[in-house]
Amino acid sequence: MTTSPPIPSAPSWPYCAHGADPVGCRGINVSGHTDCLTHLADTDRNAYLTSLSPALTLITAARPSTKT
Ligand SMILES: [Zn+2]
Repeated sequence: MTTSPPIPSAPSWPYCAHGADPVGCRGINVSGHTDCLTHLADTDRNAYLTSLSPALTLITAARPSTKT
């Protein structure tokens, strides 16, 4: 008697699907892409993270360098 593993079901959100199993990665897609944050290309991930935090980027860019 064999027991088959439960068939994974696809999530209800737009998901990455990266990988070999029938559903693949269930990570939600990054807006404007077909991959989740984990499987997004480095350049796309950096661009996305930058777009998420423009204020933080400004703060970081505007932070004066401290010279001692
Ligand atoms: Zn993924």
